[in-house]
Amino acid sequence: MKKITVAKGDGIGPEIMDATLDIILAAGARIEIDEIEVGEKVYLAGNTSGIAKASWESIRSNKVFLKAPITTPQGGGYKSLNVTTRKMLGLYANIRPCSSLYPFVETKHKNMDMVIIRENEEDLYAGIEHQQTDEVVQCLKLVSRPGCEKIIRYAFEYAKLYGRKKVTCFTKDNIMKQTDGLFHEVFNEIGYEYPDIEKEHWIIDIGAAKMADTPEIFDVIVTLNLYGDVISDIAAQIAGSVGLAGSANIGQECAMFEAIHGSAPRRAGQNMANPSGLLQGAVMMLNHIGQNDIAEKVQNAWLKTLEDGIHTYDIYKENTSKEKVGTKEFAQAVISRLDQSPKILKTVNYSEVSPIIIKPYQRKPSTKKELVGFDAFVHWKGLDPNELGEIISKLNTKSLTINMITNRGIKVWPHGFEETFCTDHWRCRFKAADGKTISKREIVNILWAAIQNGIDVIKTENLYYFDDKAGFSLGQGQ
Ligand code: NAD
Repeated sequence: MKKITVAKGDGIGPEIMDATLDIILAAGARIEIDEIEVGEKVYLAGNTSGIAKASWESIRSNKVFLKAPITTPQGGGYKSLNVTTRKMLGLYANIRPCSSLYPFVETKHKNMDMVIIRENEEDLYAGIEHQQTDEVVQCLKLVSRPGCEKIIRYAFEYAKLYGRKKVTCFTKDNIMKQTDGLFHEVFNEIGYEYPDIEKEHWIIDIGAAKMADTPEIFDVIVTLNLYGDVISDIAAQIAGSVGLAGSANIGQECAMFEAIHGSAPRRAGQNMANPSGLLQGAVMMLNHIGQNDIAEKVQNAWLKTLEDGIHTYDIYKENTSKEKVGTKEFAQAVISRLDQSPKILKTVNYSEVSPIIIKPYQRKPSTKKELVGFDAFVHWKGLDPNELGEIISKLNTKSLTINMITNRGIKVWPHGFEETFCTDHWRCRFKAADGKTISKREIVNILWAAIQNGIDVIKTENLYYFDDKAGFSLGQGQ
């Protein structure tokens, strides 16, 4: 018997959770349910995180959390419980299988069968944002080597376990050479350890376009947090309906399973919602806790129900469906097929499935780190970069001199274009003479001189070489 934490959530949440639990318990799931309250009521009671302390304790001790969708109240500074849960519990991998159920669920993509593995903790979702000048705000994109190694290794281990042939990496490293570049580099490194699996890399824009057009050419896709968020909703939608897809959020210790859709408040309390998305989350949970026999039984009965044309309103079509049913009736239809398998859709066999355990991250030996300059970001209301160039050049010292000025990343001094649009946010790059390193003291000297000259430096970034390789990008146009 495995104790699991369950939250019934908001909107259609309680209905689809009851249906899901009815099905898995009827199938013989060996689980004990520890129910907690999360979401709207908890938020409105004044808890801005949407979850009480005692509920965290339940999840942390049971380590397995089945969660129905919740409603995040608009405005009022309420934090997304999903993002908080993923990050607090270190649920680094988000897994979303998306396959078509053609001809029983209408889709333009009959042979689509892919799994999106999205990094879940880093990237722009670190939520580190600042207003820096009157005109410019910033969001920090953080990507770490441990973060990349964990998710990419997970993707290859997943492909191996489920007998998938290819892992595709999506990044935008033609533009973001440091952050997305690291993700791509780690993909190549870890890929070597899996010689039997085909590997490929696509730039996200054309990759996403191809995925929306010809999803059947993809198998497992691994990508960064934001891209994964966007493409996994597209993938679920083009497979048939967002109401059919489930997702797993996996960490070293804990795991959370859910539907990918939200609480659909307009459909709440009407016995209309499709419980399939949450049921798919529950099937992944059963595999995760080693109850593969039950997972397999539920999945095959679910496929048979869809094949028999028993459909909720969201996938009901005159030509392909036989009976339009409500949430409860759909659950009953699955329960009455628990010893059956689909005839046309592929029967699943989970006997070989086991939890994916990846080796813990090993910190690499330190590299040779040399400070070779710094970027000073300046709030300046002038318009002519040449004027700023003159002002900033007065700060030059013997060892550190101004090398270029950019505005939103584009080089505007020296020799900029008059056509380039400039805001009030300027990056002034100071560099040491060729091959030299500097001390932090020299940076402080320049900053002190800037204060004395009334120059408004709003932040600085140090420029390092790591093992003789530049740890910073060039200015665009440099
Ligand atoms: P939504 O996914 O709740 O609903 C969008 C539409 O999709 C619905 O109007 C409905 O037509 C359809 N739909 C969704 N699930 C369905 C199902 N199971 N069966 C049948 N049809 C279904 O998205 P939304 O309306 O943008 O968001 C509503 C609330 O859900 C918001 O408060 C949002 O913050 C929250 N939300 C929660 C989660 C989560 O808890 N994981 C995820 C996304 C959105």
